Amino acid sequence: MSNVGFIGLGTMGLAMAQNLIKAGHTVVGFDPAATTMDAHVLNGGQSVKSPAEAAKGADFVITMLPNGGIVRHAIFDFGGVIEGMSESAILIDMSTIHPSETDSIRKDLAAKNISMVDAPVGRTSVEAASGTSLFMVGAEQHDFEAVRPILEGMGDTIIDCGGPGTGSRMKIVNNLMTTSLNVLTAQILTFSDATGLDRDLAVSVMNGTAAGRGHMSTTYPAKVLKGDLTPAFMIDLAKKDLDIALTLSKELGVSLSLPTQAETIYADAQKAGRGRQDWTAIYDMLHKNHFPTA
Ligand code: NAD
Repeated sequence: MSNVGFIGLGTMGLAMAQNLIKAGHTVVGFDPAATTMDAHVLNGGQSVKSPAEAAKGADFVITMLPNGGIVRHAIFDFGGVIEGMSESAILIDMSTIHPSETDSIRKDLAAKNISMVDAPVGRTSVEAASGTSLFMVGAEQHDFEAVRPILEGMGDTIIDCGGPGTGSRMKIVNNLMTTSLNVLTAQILTFSDATGLDRDLAVSVMNGTAAGRGHMSTTYPAKVLKGDLTPAFMIDLAKKDLDIALTLSKELGVSLSLPTQAETIYADAQKAGRGRQDWTAIYDMLHKNHFPTA
């Protein structure tokens, strides 16, 4: 069992630290909020007055903080982690931050002979509480193996994303999908409500099609991801359906900004002569626009 310094005991950190304690680790926590420190002590953790004290004697130091500026501050500023951490310990940043901040913090820690792993958290505080989080890990292989038992104390899915910084990048990619889909989902359900359909019925129907099941687990693997652009459902027909929906939305007075932008991309695909390709060829088009020589 290990000594863990835990910096940032908020919605996520408090629950994650509690799971580490349950797994038998010693968890020395720091958070400026007194109430959260009290809760951590009630959970069986130890409380200290600075990140430096939390890092002292730790095998691993975890940061679970709101943004990159605060992560940097907690590590490098006065009373920060760096003042207490030994060179043999590993810093695990589990916050969601900009990948270039991850890279620059790693570089500055390396200059002090300290290794860093980026391991942002997938899923929500519900899974953090039940110890069933997913971690996207960016690490050198030996560091990945070293931190694995700690991560296993807090989650059930630990993914090696392929080297330092890749966990941070994967998390941003993942959250771009989830945050954008959230707005698209809200727009589509508002549109559905305006048509007079029963909402539960609409959710149930869409959960049985690519609408709710998602393209990544249905249409993409069947077609574009294996390089097959022959139409299972062609772009011309998809564009026709999208146009009907946008016309109806205007009649109903519902604003659909994301589908309106999608319509211009379908139109671009038609202009590029892709109308009779599979609708997943939209990805092939955007990818080739970005990597023209690939
Ligand atoms: P939160 O705001 O609830 O917790 C952040 C904690 O950091 C607070 O308790 C705050 O007092 C503390 N803090 C602020 N400055 C500090 C400092 N200088 N030193 C030590 N502690 C400090 O946020 P959260 O929901 O726990 O999220 C933490 C991170 O995890 C964020 O980067 C977030 O994007 C990410 N995340 C959140 C969720 C979620 O469902 N809430 C899921 C995955 C990832």
